[in-house]
Amino acid sequence: MANPLYDTLFGRHAGQTTPFLHLPDGTTLSHDAFLRKAARFAHAIHALGLTHGDRLAVQVEKSPAALALYAACVQAGVIFLPLNTAYTPAEVSYFLENSGARLFVCDGAHAGTLTAVAHKAGSHLATLNADGSGSFAVAAHDMPEEFDTEPRGEDNLAAFLYTSGTTGRSKGAMLTQRNLLSNAEVLADCWRFTAEDVLLHALPIFHTHGLFVATNITLLAGGAMIFLPKFDIDQVIAALPRASAMMGVPTFYTRLLDDPRFTRDLVAHFRLFVSGSAPLLADTHRDFEARTGHRILERYGMTETNMNTSNPYEGERIAGTVGLPLPGVELKICDPETGADLPRGEIGQIEVRGPNVFKGYWQMPEKTREELREDGFFLTGDLGRIDERGYVHIVGRAKDLIISGGYNIYPKEVELALDDQPGVKESAVIGVPHPDFGESVVAVLVPEAGASPDPQAIAAALRDRLAGFKLPRRIVTVEELPRNTMGKVQKNILRERYADSFT
Ligand code: ATP
Ligand code: MG
Repeated sequence: MANPLYDTLFGRHAGQTTPFLHLPDGTTLSHDAFLRKAARFAHAIHALGLTHGDRLAVQVEKSPAALALYAACVQAGVIFLPLNTAYTPAEVSYFLENSGARLFVCDGAHAGTLTAVAHKAGSHLATLNADGSGSFAVAAHDMPEEFDTEPRGEDNLAAFLYTSGTTGRSKGAMLTQRNLLSNAEVLADCWRFTAEDVLLHALPIFHTHGLFVATNITLLAGGAMIFLPKFDIDQVIAALPRASAMMGVPTFYTRLLDDPRFTRDLVAHFRLFVSGSAPLLADTHRDFEARTGHRILERYGMTETNMNTSNPYEGERIAGTVGLPLPGVELKICDPETGADLPRGEIGQIEVRGPNVFKGYWQMPEKTREELREDGFFLTGDLGRIDERGYVHIVGRAKDLIISGGYNIYPKEVELALDDQPGVKESAVIGVPHPDFGESVVAVLVPEAGASPDPQAIAAALRDRLAGFKLPRRIVTVEELPRNTMGKVQKNILRERYADSFT
């Protein structure tokens, strides 16, 4: 094939008037209309001088035009680099300079501040607004609606996706056509996606979850998406009756459960709910089943690897686990210090290998060498274990591991004990500096609505459950945990906030 990613996801729909995007204004964009828009964009990209291997950075609101820009990059053989819409000009400056993006497409509303940023990075700036207007749209307007797809191979880079920056500065993961295609094929098959599916899409499209998992799978299967600009509870409740599947971060599910309009009847026809990007509380999983009769399917992945594991479509979806390695993905648990394989059941670092694993971090050869072994295994930085049924359990990130007085404390174990206490909705456990122990444990609790859990009673209850060295030495209550756009708890912020607890 001339361009496997384009041909498999997009090209196959050429000329088809089947629905692709159902939009909030009640209109529907067909596959064909979408591809014609993408072709005009691909011409505009070439006309601006971009060619193979050039990076096109994008920071725009979610819209059909933004998605067409992704298709256009694939068709034109240009590397697509989407950026979080929350990034400030100073952050954008890092991404443009780090990636060497030749073209930067941003919202017209931000062009004033971002022009200087783009100029400094040597990027050409164009604008594309959520309503489809902007200087880029103007440049594409009179272009032909067909484009000779640029020949590319499976080893060529398709996208640079920067990691979420939860544990440090975001790194640019270089993803090949094969990385994206192999994962989309495996997931569409495992999760039984077909042309009949209508996916409720309320995720951002600058992150692997909404862009590659949700969009690529739907494209591959030939289904449609109800394409919402963001997770708005009223819009989501209104759209659920027309959808067959939804993918979300855990906060989507907790927000739905908090809404009395979210009933069993509303989703009785549903085929599949998928969760990922952050841990889904086992309680949420159970509450969701009690309310709707559906068991959420939790899966695990990351920017560098796409998806690695999934609970089964048929077979048992086990709350609190991320399921089994996907076909073609090898997953092992290793000693974080020595890299040696650990016996089944033991906690260690999760390592993965397969066609889904990225090529390396852009311009970070050392980081790449540290995290991508020569034998192809990628060190995920996540700690986990495999149970007797082969299901993978994530116990937290290696960087969140607490070492107190020489003992390892896995925050997840303490969090699970805390979450079981009356009046506790959720919790985050962190390690902060301690003069005697090196680090000691601080527990940050979020109470259930209307509850005021008693820290002393909780401390007493934990003493029966956990070894002394694991017990929180300070328990604080907050209204909510700091989270980034993907619903990930930002433990670095908590560590800073409570850094002086024991000093
Ligand atoms: P950075 O690498 O820059 O610190 P990040 O790791 O948060 O940021 P992403 O690639 O967006 O960036 O997130 C991947 C991480 O999200 C995984 O390594 C894992 O820690 C977490 N994750 C994803 N899915 C799940 C899940 N189902 N359960 C628990 N954690 C998950
Ligand atoms: Mg990461």
